[in-house]
Amino acid sequence: MNPNETIMQFFHWYYPADGSLWNKLKEEVSKLQEMGITTVWLPPAYKACDGGVGYGTYDLWDLGEFDQQGNVRTKYGTKDEYVQAVEEVHKHNLKIIVDVVLNHKMGADETEKVLVQDQDPHDRLKKVGEPYEREILSKFTFPGRKGKYSEYIWDFQSFSGVNDKDDLGNNEHFYRIIHDQYGDNWDESVLGGENGNYDYLMGCDIDFRNPAVREELKKWLSWYYDLIKFDGIRIDAIKHMNPYVINELLDHTQYIAGEKKLMNVAEHWTQDLGELLHYKEVSQGRVQMFDVPLHYHFHEASLKGDQYDIRQLFDNTLVKEACDRCISFGDNHDTQPLQMLESPIDFWFKPLANAIILLREQGIPCIFYTSIYGAKYRDKGKDGQDHEVELVPVPHLYDMIKVRRHLAYGQQRDYFDHPNTIGWTREGADEFENSGCAVVLTNGSEGYKDMEVGQRHAGQIFRDVTGNRQEEITINEDGWARFTVNGGSVSVWIRK
Ligand code: CA
Repeated sequence: MNPNETIMQFFHWYYPADGSLWNKLKEEVSKLQEMGITTVWLPPAYKACDGGVGYGTYDLWDLGEFDQQGNVRTKYGTKDEYVQAVEEVHKHNLKIIVDVVLNHKMGADETEKVLVQDQDPHDRLKKVGEPYEREILSKFTFPGRKGKYSEYIWDFQSFSGVNDKDDLGNNEHFYRIIHDQYGDNWDESVLGGENGNYDYLMGCDIDFRNPAVREELKKWLSWYYDLIKFDGIRIDAIKHMNPYVINELLDHTQYIAGEKKLMNVAEHWTQDLGELLHYKEVSQGRVQMFDVPLHYHFHEASLKGDQYDIRQLFDNTLVKEACDRCISFGDNHDTQPLQMLESPIDFWFKPLANAIILLREQGIPCIFYTSIYGAKYRDKGKDGQDHEVELVPVPHLYDMIKVRRHLAYGQQRDYFDHPNTIGWTREGADEFENSGCAVVLTNGSEGYKDMEVGQRHAGQIFRDVTGNRQEEITINEDGWARFTVNGGSVSVWIRK
C-alpha cells in the first residue's frame, strides 16, 4: 500500500511580488516533507503580463530570464532560482505540479489592424452588426527574448478573440477575430455551455484550430519538461478550450516524460457535477479534476451554521460520485477573500473542511498556502471599497496532515445519521503501525457518535489529536466506542 498523497498549493493570490517565492520553497521543503506533504503545486512560472500572478500569460519561454514586462524575474523569482527550488523539492522526493495557462495571452507588444465581429456577450453565437476593421493589441514579438528557444511570433491568426488593452479581463467587450481559414465562429468543440459558446475567456484567447499554435505549444511543453522534469500539470480554465487538443497536448507531454506517469489536474470551474463528469469522459481518463461542488458545499455550510444539514455535504460531489483520483480542496487563490471567485470557508469551519479532505478515503487533498502560513493583504472588494484581510493558519492542520500520512488507512465506516453531527472511522492497515482513526464533527452543539473502529483496536485507549477534547476513550471488545466532539468543532481520535 502506498502512503497517502497530499498536495499543497504553494502560493496564494496576494503573495508579495518581491521575487521570493522560489527561495522560500527551497527553505521550506524539508518542513513540508516532514509534515507529510507529497506534492507541491506551484504558480505559473513564466513571465506574466505586467509581472502579475501568472494567469495572464505573456511569454511561456521566459521563466524569469529576459527583461520583459518590466523585469527579468517573474513575481516569484528568477529562472535559476526556480530551477534550483524544483531540484530541492525533487531531492526531498516530493513531486511538482506546474501550472499551465494555455487559454489566453496578455500584454501584447504591438497592435494589428484586423477584421473583427461583435456579438452578444451572453449569447456569443448571436452576431451584432457586420464585421469591421479594428486596431487590436494582439501581436507578441517578445523583444527581450529575441527569438531564443523559439522564433514563433503570436499574431491575430493565433487567437480567436481579443479585447481592448484597457479591458484586460473584461469579457463584456471583446471581439471575435475573423480568420479566413477556421470558419466564421468560435471554436465549436469547447464544452462549457454557458453564454452560447464559452471559448472566449479573456485577453487574447488562443485559437487551437491553428495547427501552428498546437505545434508551438507542444514544442514548449517538451522544452519545459526537459528543463525541470515536472511530475504533473495543472491546466487552467479547461472549460474554455478545445478538449481534444488538451488530450493531444497531454499525450504529447506524457510521451516526452516516458515511463513516469504524469498527474494532470484540470480546473473546470463549475458546480454542475454532470459537466465535470462529461469532461472526464471526453478526456478518456487523462485528467483528474478539482472537486468544485464540494468546495461550494463547504462555503455554504460554513455560512449556515447549524441550519445546514451536514449529511448533504457530499451530495453531487466528485468525492462521492467519481472519486478516482479527484482533487478535494477547501480554499484556493481564486476563492480567497477579495478574489474573482470569492467564496471562502468561514474560519470556524476550516478545521472541519480540512478534516474531511484529509482523513477520508476518497479524493486527494490539496491544502492551501494560507491554511499553513496565513496571509495579510489589502485590495478592493466587489463593493469598490478597500479591505484589509487577515487569514490565520488553520488550527490543528499539521496534526491532521500527519494523521493522513501515518494513520488514515484501511476500511472506512461512515456514520452520517444526524443533520448536525457526522463521523467516520478508518480501521487501519498492517503496513502502518498503530494506524486507524475516528473523526467526529458537528455544526451544532457538543455531541458524540457511537462508531466501530474495528476489533483490532479492542481495549486500546484513544485520544483526540487536536486537543479539543481532553478525555481518553477506551475501545470496547467489539471494536466500538462513543467518540465525543465539542460544539462547532472536530475531534480526531487516534491511538494513545
Ligand atoms: Ca478559449
